[in-house]
Amino acid sequence: MISRRILNIEESSTLAMAQKSRDLVKEGKKIINLSLGEPDFNTPNFIKEAAKKAIDEDFSKYTPVGGYDDLREAISEKFRRDNNLIYDKNQIICSTGAKQSLMQLLLCILNPNDEIILPSPYWVSYFQMIKFAKAKPVILNTSIENNFKISAKDLEKKINTNTKAFLINSPSNPTGAVYTKEELREISNIIKKHPKVIVISDEIYEHINFTKKHTSIGEFLDTKKQVVTVNGLSKGFAMTGWRLGYLGAPTKITKACIKLQGQFTSGTCSITQRAAISALQKKPDFTKEMKNKFLIRRNLTMNLLKNIEGIKVPEPKGAFYIFADFSYYFNKKYKQKIIKNNDELSLFLLEEGEVATVSGSAFGDNNCIRISIASSEKDLKTAISRIKKCLSKLS
Ligand code: PMP
Ligand code: GLU
Repeated sequence: MISRRILNIEESSTLAMAQKSRDLVKEGKKIINLSLGEPDFNTPNFIKEAAKKAIDEDFSKYTPVGGYDDLREAISEKFRRDNNLIYDKNQIICSTGAKQSLMQLLLCILNPNDEIILPSPYWVSYFQMIKFAKAKPVILNTSIENNFKISAKDLEKKINTNTKAFLINSPSNPTGAVYTKEELREISNIIKKHPKVIVISDEIYEHINFTKKHTSIGEFLDTKKQVVTVNGLSKGFAMTGWRLGYLGAPTKITKACIKLQGQFTSGTCSITQRAAISALQKKPDFTKEMKNKFLIRRNLTMNLLKNIEGIKVPEPKGAFYIFADFSYYFNKKYKQKIIKNNDELSLFLLEEGEVATVSGSAFGDNNCIRISIASSEKDLKTAISRIKKCLSKLS
């Protein structure tokens, strides 16, 4: 009954774990949910006010498919102001979350068997989206030892005549890796030698960066020809449920995405778009408060995890996840059952410790487990002490 296209992709494991933990809470279990990457803060008041005003002013009709003109202008200006990127209004398209921006983009640029270079560990959906577009992900592995970052040389080795695109996500979900300006410049120098390769830069964690200022790779390349920059309001502005993602791209690509979106959703919610204008027109200084809170939580969680025997905990430089190596606990036993891998360990932490995490396997990694730190300090403390207790039961 179901198409091969759908049977061929997997359910999102981040969303599946979040649902599993909601279901257990309904059954009366006291689960602490550190699975989902979702800020626990509320949307800033001035953005909520803009949305209320839009409702009262009857912004209730279909919008232009790519978004209201003044929103696309605000995004073009945001790219210039915050990222040194030149995309004019017609190169921008707004969608129902960065997830839709990315899926549409891949459908618009990839032919079957085109290669797309993807550093691993990668965000779950990239891999499935590429499969859905029938293209071939070419995985570029990284590890804790190289801070989960690729080098320009690694990239160069993977580029060939079938390479259509290269996808980079800095700050990264799940590893928290952040590329420095110099590293991005070096990667760009390789890309410049291959003018047909499209760079897709997912910068959704731009505002959750614990290093210096965020750098966009597009700063070093010709954005009109070769770079698609994807961003959105979900993470930095605590607006996951509002569903506003956007991208800037070479005009041909933007036009193709608008064509697809016109047959698909007709564009994203009018009220969200009006609220987004007020969010993006303001200098993003107000996001710093949330970032500083994430930093406190990162330090707290890192320190607590470091006290647990055997775990390797690399320090995330951005985003709100800790991606720690738990392989020390593989092949240990609990009540006669052997915990073989990170999937089984993550499940064990949920069932025995009542803490929801996401296994690294969903992100292309066999040793790590992802812990979201987008929760209160109190919950993080309780969760890590539960994890510690749980792991001490393994022998
Ligand atoms: N990219 C990355 C790396 C993410 O973690 C997320 C989180 N869902 C997205 C894109 C999509 O975000 P949204 O659809 O909520 O804008
Ligand atoms: N990006 C978040 C995460 O990785 C939200 C869930 C999703 O869209 O995958 O948890």
